[in-house]
Amino acid sequence: MAEETIFSKIIRKEIPADVLYQDELVTAFRDINPRAPVHILVVPNKLIPTTNDVDTDDELALGRMITVAKKLAADEGIAEDGYRLIMNCNQHGGQEVYHIHMHLVGGRALGPMVVG
Ligand code: AMP
Repeated sequence: MAEETIFSKIIRKEIPADVLYQDELVTAFRDINPRAPVHILVVPNKLIPTTNDVDTDDELALGRMITVAKKLAADEGIAEDGYRLIMNCNQHGGQEVYHIHMHLVGGRALGPMVVG
């Protein structure tokens, strides 16, 4: 069984976060250390440590992460100008929190790299 991270506590509302969206599969909240004017994390409610650990059973939640990111990009007014969706995996990917998450970053021209 993988070890829980701070994201499980955010999902269960045990610690504060700026939660923008939650349903039975995913939760989205603002990154505590934003690297762009809009920087939101979209996470599955189920603990999956890395993208190496995803299973076919997770496909619904993973698809929901993208449709929620799309909705939030529209809500934040960055859909038309554009944005970037990023998932980091393990050490070389720069992953710090071992509960998979999709970074939604935008609100400015991002250049070649943002999160890492
Ligand atoms: P990664 O490097 O892809 O694992 O990204 C982890 C992200 O989680 C970083 O951008 C952190 O700023 C963010 N983060 C860590 N703790 C919190 C928290 N308590 N609330 C919101 N974002 C967090």
